[in-house]
Amino acid sequence: MNKKIKKVAITGGTHGNELTGVYLINKFTKNPNLVKKGSFETFFMHTNLGAMKQCTRYVEKDLNRTFTKNGLNDSTLTSYEDVLAKEINQKLGPKGSDNTNVDFVMDLHSTTSNMGLSICISTEDKLSWQVAAYVKECIPELHIFSWKGDTGDTSFISSIPPSGFTIEVGSIPQGVLRADMFFETERIVQTILDFFELYNTNKLEKTYTQIEIYDNVKTVDFPRGEDDNINAMVHPNLQENGYFELKKGDPVFVTLDGENICYEDKDGLYALFINEAAYYEKGVAMCLADKKVIEL
Ligand SMILES: [Zn+2]
Repeated sequence: MNKKIKKVAITGGTHGNELTGVYLINKFTKNPNLVKKGSFETFFMHTNLGAMKQCTRYVEKDLNRTFTKNGLNDSTLTSYEDVLAKEINQKLGPKGSDNTNVDFVMDLHSTTSNMGLSICISTEDKLSWQVAAYVKECIPELHIFSWKGDTGDTSFISSIPPSGFTIEVGSIPQGVLRADMFFETERIVQTILDFFELYNTNKLEKTYTQIEIYDNVKTVDFPRGEDDNINAMVHPNLQENGYFELKKGDPVFVTLDGENICYEDKDGLYALFINEAAYYEKGVAMCLADKKVIEL
């Protein structure tokens, strides 16, 4: 028998200018029956109201890099997002507890990068991987990206309870709602809720043993000049091509003067989060990942 899931959280607005999640939470607030299931409670919330109000990614720092155990326990950190993270941690967690207030978090994001429907997963937790595999089976065009994040300790909001992950859908400009991707994101949310209903009532037809993933290898920064300014752009061949398989010699950047800069790493890595607007400040032009099938 499975240990029953009692409470599933849907979070949106963690980045205040990613409107899909913001408006999906608005929709569920108006009509909670849309996400109501018989065997568990669904909880949903806007996480960064300050950033949503300004329609910016964050007020002082990236909320979705603020849920490290050290940060949550550090009372000297008092920025808007540090305080917010501690409040959210009390609501959903606390992180590290055996008895968190919610059992699973799906955090809704959009990306300016053209990578379709993706789940970004950063945990070894078995249940999270079972959910991801189920969603992938129901929605085959979805990609699973395994990424521990760009900080040491996992810092995503989805890391508060033992189980959870981030949903990334794009390309969507910051501050823009796109109907097609709004409904696609809602479809992923509903598929995850369906999973838990089947899971709790022991009606899942199988246990998933394998899954195809894109496993993060490294991030690549833009070429920069001595003044640290970017001096080349993402090459047009890559621009609209999330999960692009790279071969030695492929042009990846083009300088402002039109000169190609080519890929020199090993063949067969896949580029994603290509030219994500929010990652300019993080020094990330794209992530490179290995495509592989892993045992669950
Ligand atoms: Zn985001």
